[in-house]
Amino acid sequence: MNDPQNLVRPLVRDLHAYVPGEQPKIKGLIKLNTNENPYPPSPKVLRAIRAAADERLRLYPNPAADALREKLARFHRCKPENIIVGNGSDELLALAVRCFVEPGAEVQFFAPSYSLYPVLAAIHGANPHPVPLRPDFALPPQWRTQAPLTFVTTPNAPSGRGYTTAALEGLAHQGVMVLDEAYVDFANDHAMTLALKYPNILVARTFSKAYSLCFLRVGYMVGHPALIAALHKIRDSYNVNGLGQIAAAATLDDLPYYRRNFKRVIATRERLTRELGKLGFDVLPSQTNFILTRPPRFPAKAWLEKLRDKKILVRWFNHSGLEDRLRISIGSDAEIDTLLKAANSILKQRHA
Ligand SMILES: *Cc1c(COP(=O)(O)O)cnc(C)c1O
Repeated sequence: MNDPQNLVRPLVRDLHAYVPGEQPKIKGLIKLNTNENPYPPSPKVLRAIRAAADERLRLYPNPAADALREKLARFHRCKPENIIVGNGSDELLALAVRCFVEPGAEVQFFAPSYSLYPVLAAIHGANPHPVPLRPDFALPPQWRTQAPLTFVTTPNAPSGRGYTTAALEGLAHQGVMVLDEAYVDFANDHAMTLALKYPNILVARTFSKAYSLCFLRVGYMVGHPALIAALHKIRDSYNVNGLGQIAAAATLDDLPYYRRNFKRVIATRERLTRELGKLGFDVLPSQTNFILTRPPRFPAKAWLEKLRDKKILVRWFNHSGLEDRLRISIGSDAEIDTLLKAANSILKQRHA
């Protein structure tokens, strides 16, 4: 009998899959590791989901999320033809690789940024081309203008650094550039205008982080109708689940609720930045719903474990240049108070 491993394509056999942040089953854990929103979806959104959960679940949903795309088009002052909705923005990032990059060609991205990009390139048999950001996570002086596809996380993850629209517009480019704006609702600036101005720029957004809908998996891309039509060609027929379409549409009908929460998250982020600073943490200014910080006294990995012992989960990346830092998602004020108390008590411990 042959080893069943030999039935798997060599590319897949050797693939290092993306490692998502832990979704623990332990009760009472404070989860500050995957940048989820601490606040629930609006009551109107929950009502819309409940009202839709009936016998109609036996039917397929609208294949192209037409109602949602029309609402998004009004929101962004463009046409439905400028928009594709995906099963989370992750699906659309993968479709972009398949749509714009020949196997063997380059997928460019800045390092550090979203660690899914090199995995998507590898799955496709494309070449990941990381370009280091500057030490302060500013955009680099040089990049390959010929790469068929470039991903830019803006604001950047995991640093939290924001980029101005002018700086992004300066990334002159021949190939397709995807501006991944997963955290843009917590930032000072967004670059949606670029997606509607340049035929080779796409903006990716998600309902996951800012709109508290991680569970339902809805994201979208905006750009030139020719690129959007090409992406539609290669997506699954019913790529976005029906409850997700309904929840996202209801979200757009209740934006003031979410804008209040953005303000709360930003206020908590600024307070956490100040308070950790007082404890000796080096905290980078953030335009997202997380912070990246270099903790004092103990190595970052030890902090990860010490916080976990106190039932607080944060993220540590075993990537070069990030080993001495922790990424902490902005939780509710009560969760952040607990984190600060825990940090205080860890600092009083004698040994690592
Ligand atoms: C979370 C995240 C995504 C994925 O969002 P989904 O819509 O939940 O798939 C994409 N890009 C970045 C940078 C993210 O942090």
